Amino acid sequence: MDTIRTMAEGGTSARTKEVRAFGTEAATAPLDQLNIKRRIPKPHDVEIDILYCGVCHSDLHTARNEWHGTIYPCVPGHEIVGRVVSVGDHVTKFKVGDLAAVGCMVDSCRECDYCNEGLEQYCAEGNIQTYNSPDKYLGTQTYGGYSESIVVTESFVLRVPENLDLAAVAPLLCAGITTYSPLKHWHVGPGQKVGVVGLGGLGHMAVKIAKAMGADVIVFTTSPSKVEDAKRLGADEVVLSRDETQMAKYAGKLHFVLDAVSAEHDINAYLNLLRVDGSLVLVGAPELPLPVAAFSLIPSRRSFSGSMIGGIAETQEMLDFCGKHNIVSDIELINIQQINEAYERLLKGDVKYRFVIDMASLKN
Ligand code: NAP
Ligand code: ZN
Ligand code: ZN
Repeated sequence: MDTIRTMAEGGTSARTKEVRAFGTEAATAPLDQLNIKRRIPKPHDVEIDILYCGVCHSDLHTARNEWHGTIYPCVPGHEIVGRVVSVGDHVTKFKVGDLAAVGCMVDSCRECDYCNEGLEQYCAEGNIQTYNSPDKYLGTQTYGGYSESIVVTESFVLRVPENLDLAAVAPLLCAGITTYSPLKHWHVGPGQKVGVVGLGGLGHMAVKIAKAMGADVIVFTTSPSKVEDAKRLGADEVVLSRDETQMAKYAGKLHFVLDAVSAEHDINAYLNLLRVDGSLVLVGAPELPLPVAAFSLIPSRRSFSGSMIGGIAETQEMLDFCGKHNIVSDIELINIQQINEAYERLLKGDVKYRFVIDMASLKN
């Protein structure tokens, strides 16, 4: 591959090489093969050959500019598992041949109060996401894991538990941490009734993790075809959320609800499930605002919050927790050439429960 020099915004230069990737040039264009540049590893960098990359609904929201702010070309993918192929001179945590993983962030300011507390996702300067963030080395936007390889500073690279299936580990890097972090922050555990809304990639990880934390889990799904699966995944009870009689039985009964729905829905129906002092945490990020009625919150002193992924140390903690409890994602392995079809199926809720791309297919 060619090695060339690229001028970054700050005037610094980085040597780069071209790698194959899959991405899109416009919100309405399908994803297709394209070439991107990766920097040659700097002293603290780890270069990873990507083996598997999970397909998050955020990839679709971003590729189609549903959150407004996508810079094209856009190469999504932030559930990355691979093997280290080179390291910079100052790297101490990884060596060539190690397994490694990268999630939703590749950097942050590393100096603000939040970064110092391990909350890099809430960095005061804004974290640098794996795709669609400014790339300070190359002056372009960052490009994600639908690609042959990635170069990341070692403090944002994670270790993969050796005992887990590699392809099924990939979704832990976003779906796993995004659900683990709020479940832990809100002290979900034994004796609590926890609702999980939306049984997709995030939702099915929330079921497994909340069960491993000792909670009673009730799944709320719009899909009758997922009822048996939800139980197999560990749910104690399953409710068809479009059935008002079933919903009424749970009014005021839950301590905590995690909402992982990707599209417009009635949030008040779920706030009403909470006990006094209960919390509903939104991790799903629909394009349009969700109206909240004052009287869904006031009479039972309920809280309505949001949560974004998790910090780097917490992501490692989650991976180790999953290693210990033998938790991975239920996946459907696809080739990169099937990505556009996979996006259409995501929109229909037709995924059980995470697409993972076998990145070897990029070489086809
Ligand atoms: P996903 O696999 O597509 O799952 C979403 C689920 O939502 C579907 O399987 C479906 O579950 C339910 N759903 C879809 N459309 C619905 C509708 N119109 N009404 C009611 N329910 C509907 O998506 P995902 O990858 O898990 O991501 C879920 C959301 O979280 C996305 O918006 C994503 O961008 C966001 N996200 C946020 C963070 C964060 O840091 N906060 C991180 C990652 C992802 P049922 O069939 O069970 O109803
Ligand atoms: Zn994601
Ligand atoms: Zn910071």
